[in-house]
Amino acid sequence: MGLSHMAKAVVFEEAGYSWLGPTALNIHAPDEGNIHLMEEVATPAQKERWLRPQVQGLTRSCFAMTEPGPGAGADPSMLQTFAVRDGDDYVINGRKWFITGAEGATYTIIRARMEDGSATMFLSDMDRTGIVLERHMDAMDRCFTGGHGVLRFDNLRVPASDVLGQVGKGFRYAQVRLAPARLTHCMRWLGQARRAHDTAVAYASQRQAFGQAVAAHEGVGYMLADNDMDLQTARLHIWHTAWMLDQGHPCNFESSRAKVVCSEAEWRVVDRCVQILGGQGVTGEKEVMQIFTDMRAFRIYDGPSEVHRWSMARKIVQSAEVKSA
Ligand SMILES: Cc1cc2nc3c(=O)[nH]c(=O)nc-3n(C[C@H](O)[C@H](O)[C@H](O)COP(=O)(O)OP(=O)(O)OC[C@H]3O[C@@H](n4cnc5c(N)ncnc54)[C@H](O)[C@@H]3O)c2cc1C
Repeated sequence: MGLSHMAKAVVFEEAGYSWLGPTALNIHAPDEGNIHLMEEVATPAQKERWLRPQVQGLTRSCFAMTEPGPGAGADPSMLQTFAVRDGDDYVINGRKWFITGAEGATYTIIRARMEDGSATMFLSDMDRTGIVLERHMDAMDRCFTGGHGVLRFDNLRVPASDVLGQVGKGFRYAQVRLAPARLTHCMRWLGQARRAHDTAVAYASQRQAFGQAVAAHEGVGYMLADNDMDLQTARLHIWHTAWMLDQGHPCNFESSRAKVVCSEAEWRVVDRCVQILGGQGVTGEKEVMQIFTDMRAFRIYDGPSEVHRWSMARKIVQSAEVKSA
């Protein structure tokens, strides 16, 4: 629809309030991030072939970056999937895991290492000979269509015309994808955290303990107030970063900051909601248990909190050195 990042912040939060919202609007991960990257980098022919049916909601995609040890994970430069030029093709070999939506995806974006050590993004249909979905991973969350798969590339042959963007620019394109994609995760999870909070408020207002509503006890009231502050802090970080992206800033620092603040604040909200709901919080009788188990991984994917803090710290120190020089 051509929405600005600011407009997306409003729509994605509302969509995230519902379990089905992001899927119904075709703005769930990993498709939404892939759509953004394809729009920025793909050739007109690649867009016609893969992007158009995807935005029409006819197909799904996956993004294959993370690898089993000793490959790429929190440190994406450790890529062990290799692409070697062979005539007009590239031949790709390697393994990837945690690949969300691999089952049922029509195409994948693969990040592979070149002979000179640089990285390149490749596009491939998932039904090509040479792509094997080895197994599904038994993950804590249930919210992503297709779950998370382990992929193997056995001499996967990709024509040079299916390179996404320029050869050797894979690390840069990962940033093009990840900064806005991180933020849209924050937006959708904000909707889920708000929903958990609303459920907790309703429960605490109705449920009685020691002669009054649970919410009237100071300990619970403070948790509700803390929830409100965490929700609003997360929202303002999202809106500020979205506004900066709309002004054309790359926002690598800001999106790291928003990702850490949101993933931790939204998690605290949901954890408090479990507590407020008492035993109900850890049963499927209320939606909060599912939100709790679905959300935990958000502090790990798209960069663990520790890696974002570490990367922010380096930029803070560098910028202080530049100022003092
Ligand atoms: C639900 C889910 C969905 C995912 N979907 C996808 C997908 O679709 N495609 C894809 O390619 N990947 C996907 N991933 C993978 C995800 O991007 C990685 O899990 C993440 O980058 C961390 O890599 P890792 O698991 O290998 O952790 P590791 O690299 O093994 O790191 C383990 C831990 O070490 C710590 N650590 C690492 N570096 C530092 C540092 N510099 N400072 C301090 N601590 C540090 C962190 O606590 C980190 O959590 C998904 C993961 C999950 C859980």
